[in-house]
Amino acid sequence: MISQNLENVFKKIENSALRSNRDPQEIKLIAVTKKVSIHNILECIKAGVNIIGENYVQEALSKIEKLPSHIEWHMIGHLQRNKVKYIIESCSMIQSVDSIELAEEISKRGKQINKIMPILIEVNQGEELTKTGVKNKDDIIKLVQHILTLPNLSLKGLMSIPPFFINPEDVRPFFRQLRELKDEINKIIPKANLTELSMGMSNDFEIAIEEGATMVRIGRAIFGERI
Ligand SMILES: *Cc1c(COP(=O)(O)O)cnc(C)c1O
Repeated sequence: MISQNLENVFKKIENSALRSNRDPQEIKLIAVTKKVSIHNILECIKAGVNIIGENYVQEALSKIEKLPSHIEWHMIGHLQRNKVKYIIESCSMIQSVDSIELAEEISKRGKQINKIMPILIEVNQGEELTKTGVKNKDDIIKLVQHILTLPNLSLKGLMSIPPFFINPEDVRPFFRQLRELKDEINKIIPKANLTELSMGMSNDFEIAIEEGATMVRIGRAIFGERI
């Protein structure tokens, strides 16, 4: 079932990319594996996934050691500063950077092991609906500028979890807004050179791709409902 689901997801990614005149190769699938068993994760890896997204540090660490070494894992959940040290070595990208303090801690820990950590800034587009992510544009610009001064971070782009709508078309304006924000940051701060947009989940990834997503984070459409 997982391999079938995955095949459908890959097909939809390809179709959405082609529909919007994009190269399907430029869209990465992050299989979101919170609460998913090792057995099922291994099955999706066999079926072609090579990046997984995890929300919780403890859960991620206990799984990662049981997976093939070529598998990358991305931190996509809220990250506390005091947990950075646990994930700095094994994590391939931290998508949920939302404060100067967290950025500084990641850079500091990266420096200790001589690693430059790829990161995304998590943007809160839903206002009061979700707690995590940076809300206002001035704060985002300030964070970008600060990150560019930190030696062991490589800022790649933006991530967002927009509010949920029954009709996925309603999310489109949020995806478009995130793309426009990326373009605006690149205009104001050319050396930021942001290229990645991590947006789109099971319900709405096709629309996110049409609006420019380079990473889609998909859980339920691959593994079924979480229990
Ligand atoms: C759970 C989660 C996803 C995946 O959501 P699905 O609806 O299962 O596709 C994506 N991103 C984040 C940050 C998540 O927490």
